[in-house]
Amino acid sequence: MITRQFGIPVTSPGAILRREKDLGTPLGEEIAEVLERGGLVSDKIIVELIEDWLRLHGGHGFVFDGFPRTLPQAESLMSILARLRTALDLALWLEVSQQTVFERIAGRLQCGECGFTTSASSAQFAERPVCPYCDGRLMRRSDDDLAVLQTRLSEFETKTQPLASFYAKISVLHRIDGNRDREAVFADISRLIEDKARA
Ligand code: AMP
Repeated sequence: MITRQFGIPVTSPGAILRREKDLGTPLGEEIAEVLERGGLVSDKIIVELIEDWLRLHGGHGFVFDGFPRTLPQAESLMSILARLRTALDLALWLEVSQQTVFERIAGRLQCGECGFTTSASSAQFAERPVCPYCDGRLMRRSDDDLAVLQTRLSEFETKTQPLASFYAKISVLHRIDGNRDREAVFADISRLIEDKARA
């Protein structure tokens, strides 16, 4: 939605890694087991992916979805941006209750091609699981499983949670109530991006 509305390219290491795994590339084979059990892929691999992506797409703004997830990744990003003389404008912290996480993950359908995400409870997609943007097939993610989710949540608590104070300290953190519907959350995000563009 951010790319469609603002023309800002978005990348997500999770989406890149799932594609590598599905294609069976050497990187995909290396990280498949970590993805399946819900662990975090090494900082070195993730930072290289982000650097490569920025070199190709990062000229006029960018959004990272699911990056950084550890303090070393956040510190690497600061060095990369300093080298590129680019400022970090916003760190958006989408706060959701455990109940919301469980409900959304239990019903999540994702497009294998473009990453569009929706809920299996939506009648439109339950009957015809096809992406409205690219005609890709909408599927459950293999890591959207209760046991794997426990690992993902505990990785979040120990390794990602500390990033809230890291970004609060440099005054870029904005907390958003992610328990609301997609439109309300997107309206808040849009407002922050528009305010930043005006500043
Ligand atoms: P996501 O699509 O963001 O839910 O990520 C799916 C999976 O990809 C995660 O459970 C991790 O195994 C891996 N992954 C995604 N982003 C990162 C990251 N920044 N650092 C380490 N592993 C990641």
